[in-house]
Amino acid sequence: MTPTSMDITDIPVEGYQRVARCKDAATGLHALIAVHDTTLGPALGGMRLWNYESEEDALFDVTRLAKGMTYKSAVAGTGLGGGKCVIIGDPETVKTPELFEAMGRFIDDFDGAYITAEDMNIGIADLRHVKKTTDYVTGLSREEGGSGNPSPYTAYGCVVGIEAAAEYKYGSRDLTGKHILIQGVGAVGGEMARLLKERGAKITICDIKDDRVAELCKEYGYDSVDEETHLEVDCDIYSPCARGAGINDETIPQLKCDIVAGCANNMLLKPRHGDVLREKGILYAPDYVVNAAGIINVSVERVPGGYNEEEAMRRINLIADNLREVFELADKEGIATNRAAERLAQIRIEAARQPQ
Ligand code: NAD
Repeated sequence: MTPTSMDITDIPVEGYQRVARCKDAATGLHALIAVHDTTLGPALGGMRLWNYESEEDALFDVTRLAKGMTYKSAVAGTGLGGGKCVIIGDPETVKTPELFEAMGRFIDDFDGAYITAEDMNIGIADLRHVKKTTDYVTGLSREEGGSGNPSPYTAYGCVVGIEAAAEYKYGSRDLTGKHILIQGVGAVGGEMARLLKERGAKITICDIKDDRVAELCKEYGYDSVDEETHLEVDCDIYSPCARGAGINDETIPQLKCDIVAGCANNMLLKPRHGDVLREKGILYAPDYVVNAAGIINVSVERVPGGYNEEEAMRRINLIADNLREVFELADKEGIATNRAAERLAQIRIEAARQPQ
């Protein structure tokens, strides 16, 4: 039962199935949930906690991210739609078990149309509280029946994506002797470096954490380069694995690679930067197609019998087929690969809307 202190109000947003605000006086919760599209399945997307300047800013973010999840899942074939939720507040002070329990009640108000997971400033411990008041929570640990830490799966999926891009560009997925430059060797980029080296690639890494770079180079024999000058490296594949917006007007003229493929989200500063890469003859593997293994892994929690790793790996390997479809569509239509990915998502959603 929803406590009387809780006020849930729908906010009409064109093109979205349902967007709602929750304010709960008892816990101080102020949150928004956006369900963009459930044509392909319930809307799954993470819970973000951020100190937005205004509710308007939060609404802009939650709707933008929810729509992104629709496209990501449609191309990845997860059988899910797109949604997202944001809690407005200071990550340092706002967290209490009661606030997350109230958030669970808010999620429950969507009757399963929205399913949550981790995102910025939200960890498994927070989701455990959410789970007390709603079943629509994914991404808990294996011991709790969830799919666990997504990073190793994301890394493996990105390597599958890099192999698919190599196959399209060079006619072979064999990475032996290919020079791969990785920017950012954190949870995902670090594991990618290891897997790519195993496949015979020559690896150069850079990171703003010098200790991390030194440790990995010592253990695995990679080359390293300073972050400020890393784009001077002549390589076959450039793999941004740090932050977004790294591919922009300033960096594109410096690129010395045939392929851009990495795990970083929102890699292109603007969609038009995909057009510029195409004009330069650089094959761009769209970020959300390449880095979809996390959501694919989570989607397996919903298969009958619950999460199983074998099924997750089978689905993650399909990233290669999805990418090939994107590359072929881009060439057929003479458009950038990021635009082709969006078109492929729309085609799949439209097809599902047609009466059988
Ligand atoms: P992480 O924080 O573990 O690693 C990021 C690494 O990048 C860190 O080592 C950091 O020091 C480094 N870094 C930051 N700024 C840098 C810069 N300017 N130059 C070089 N290195 C820099 O994060 P992660 O989980 O590995 O995620 C990396 C990217 O992949 C993010 O954009 C994230 O949104 C995206 N992503 C991650 C997952 C996942 O499963 N973890 C899934 C999808 C997408």
